[in-house]
Amino acid sequence: MHYSSKSSFTILFSILCLNTIGVLAQESTIRNVIINPSGMWLKGDLHVHSRHSTESSNNSISKIINFSKSVKMDYLCITDHDNHVNGDVAHNTWTDPEFKSDSLLLLYGAEWTTTRGHGNVFSAKPYDHQKLFDVRDQRDVNIGKVKNSLGVHLSANHPSGKDNFGFSYDLVKSIEVWNSAIWPKNANAIMIWDDMLSSGRMMTGRGGSDSHHGVPTADEKPTSNTYQAEFNYVGTPTTWVFAKKRSLDAIVYALDNGKVSVSANPFSPRVEFYADEKGNGKFEMMMGDNAVSTGKPIKFQVQLMGNTLVDETYTITVIKNGRKLNAYEVKGKTPIVEFADTPDLKIRTYYRVVVEGKNTPYPQVPKSMGLSEKMVALSNPIYFNFDPKF
Ligand SMILES: [Zn+2]
Ligand SMILES: [Zn+2]
Repeated sequence: MHYSSKSSFTILFSILCLNTIGVLAQESTIRNVIINPSGMWLKGDLHVHSRHSTESSNNSISKIINFSKSVKMDYLCITDHDNHVNGDVAHNTWTDPEFKSDSLLLLYGAEWTTTRGHGNVFSAKPYDHQKLFDVRDQRDVNIGKVKNSLGVHLSANHPSGKDNFGFSYDLVKSIEVWNSAIWPKNANAIMIWDDMLSSGRMMTGRGGSDSHHGVPTADEKPTSNTYQAEFNYVGTPTTWVFAKKRSLDAIVYALDNGKVSVSANPFSPRVEFYADEKGNGKFEMMMGDNAVSTGKPIKFQVQLMGNTLVDETYTITVIKNGRKLNAYEVKGKTPIVEFADTPDLKIRTYYRVVVEGKNTPYPQVPKSMGLSEKMVALSNPIYFNFDPKF
């Protein structure tokens, strides 16, 4: 892959690194935004419950789809609890006459809801979910065979706390590191993710609102859970995928391969993370990519794209192998941080970034910002010396 760089006057004048702790970060350097021409960023929610989940309320599929379109989502996965329909998602969620859209890409999926916890299934096409439901209480090795035969992406849901994913992580390609608007409850999920990454797994971190309750329309009755719609709904958080094209297959491919970042809501800035593997000024690597270390320093670039609050300061923290490497304070329209570090010649190394600051308002879910606290966005890792065949 090859990415081109592009200068812009806006960026030239707006970047201001207030406090660079990194070795090679320079306060006055004019930096270029990296634009990868080989695909596009698509945003969506990977964990939403409709009326086909029995504990949801006022949340028809058409309501979810119309809301998603109104906040400019590109894709969505409605993940109803499969146990509520005895595994027959195919004749409930997917055959609902409202399960269609001319603009929103709708993944096929469900929340695999088992005694040992929950996982989400993502697929670009319909698959026989019943088979996965039927083996839910079997040994992991049998579940793995069925999952592989279906060709679906299985993802660990809310990995810490109630109904945490209690199966082998060898079954999954991704993990829900950001469940719902309530950021603080995700701390242990992040810890588990770092453990899995450190163990050699190139495992995608993704978000999911896990929202169940819609705002009642005039002919619907509010329930005791209706208040939740103001705190947590579609897009809290929002998962961005870098897709080669605007298709379901490309979205699943991006999820499989870590081309993903997560933001607090659809209007929050998106964090992008690149590395200049060959030292030629072209940032060939992006999130999810893996290279062999040469023992030479690598230049990295973090950029915050989209609706940044220009008067606010964001803190960008770089995590290397589960530990904080550096932190940078930035502000401006398109804040950029550049740093260098040397991945070990022999040992596996990964880098990922976390962005904190004041969140961009999400008026459609007005109380979500308070629950997300300072968490704005997180990236997926860039890897060195990982074994692609692990
Ligand atoms: Zn769940
Ligand atoms: Zn759920």
